[in-house]
Amino acid sequence: MDHHCHPLRRWSGRLEPNEFRACFSETLDPRVLEEHVPNTAIYRTVLRRLAPIFGCQPSEAAILTARQMADPARYSRELLERSRTGLLLLDHGYTGPDAMGVEEHRAAVPIAQREVVRLETLAEGLVEGHRRMEDWLDAVRVAVREAVRGGAVGVKTICAYRASLRLRWPDQRAARENYGMLRGALRARGGGRPRLGGEPLCHTLVFVAAEECAGLGVPLQVHCGLGATDEDLAESSPLGLRPLLADERHRELRVAMLHCYPYHREAAYLCSVYAGAYMDLSLAIPLATTDGARAMREVLGLCPWSKLLYATDASRLPEMYLVAAQLHREALADALCGLAEERILAFDEAERVGRQILAGNARRLYGLGASDG
Ligand SMILES: [Zn+2]
Repeated sequence: MDHHCHPLRRWSGRLEPNEFRACFSETLDPRVLEEHVPNTAIYRTVLRRLAPIFGCQPSEAAILTARQMADPARYSRELLERSRTGLLLLDHGYTGPDAMGVEEHRAAVPIAQREVVRLETLAEGLVEGHRRMEDWLDAVRVAVREAVRGGAVGVKTICAYRASLRLRWPDQRAARENYGMLRGALRARGGGRPRLGGEPLCHTLVFVAAEECAGLGVPLQVHCGLGATDEDLAESSPLGLRPLLADERHRELRVAMLHCYPYHREAAYLCSVYAGAYMDLSLAIPLATTDGARAMREVLGLCPWSKLLYATDASRLPEMYLVAAQLHREALADALCGLAEERILAFDEAERVGRQILAGNARRLYGLGASDG
């Protein structure tokens, strides 16, 4: 059960090299794509693993040519099936050009799917209709409740892309000022969807979402650690989430910290001391390749295995779903074998723990039964 990933783009055979490379890097700089992504462990891994599937040389040119000759719908489905994923929890709020919509994705992708609400995208869409911040926050609460009633299984915040993740109880006057500026920028542009900004406002929104999630009994996913360069990694440590985890007011809240790397040790610590903390290593595996596998071993040194979740953070191309799934399972198998060799776990226990991390923990966290896919 992949508890955090994004939609695929519509099937297309033909891809430019940089489009393909962009799937295996978080850079936004075309020079990095052009000159440096081919010199990464993950890109070499991708080429080496895809070559036998396409029956070609492990080179970018050979793979892109073979890809173009294949029936895109058929091989995309084949790659997704090879990933052996049973259920996708999708964040549809992050969509590149040509991303499939919810219904289209359900029809095209042969894996069961549920949705997670992307908080900031939802909230940004409601700014235009609400003059006062309080009314806007009420509208966000209503929209989150409706989405969960409509089948969404969680809420995700990308606060780290809008402000520091070092959460502070916000000063309401400052938050109102942020909101006024947002509305002003919107008026100057003649309407549309603004980009949320201002720490007090962004943090107010996170605390409101946390309250709603606790009330609805769904987890709040929080983007932490590595991501695209429009976040400040120095401000993205999960340690900043302490007010959500340690405060009695959020006693019922469960927080799923996504990605975490290179702060995975900090996240493992939070999981070891706070009942509501859960984590994953999505994106770190696959992007950090061998270091992602090391991170898995480090996490299992401190994080209870009942709190570690499996996710790929894959998006766009089926190749990423497959390679991320393979690398993640291998890293997990390696880390659990390590625990078995140290005689911390018996081998049959290690296998049970593996299943728990791949699906059982997330099923419990999201309240999903076996019949949900
Ligand atoms: Zn993501």
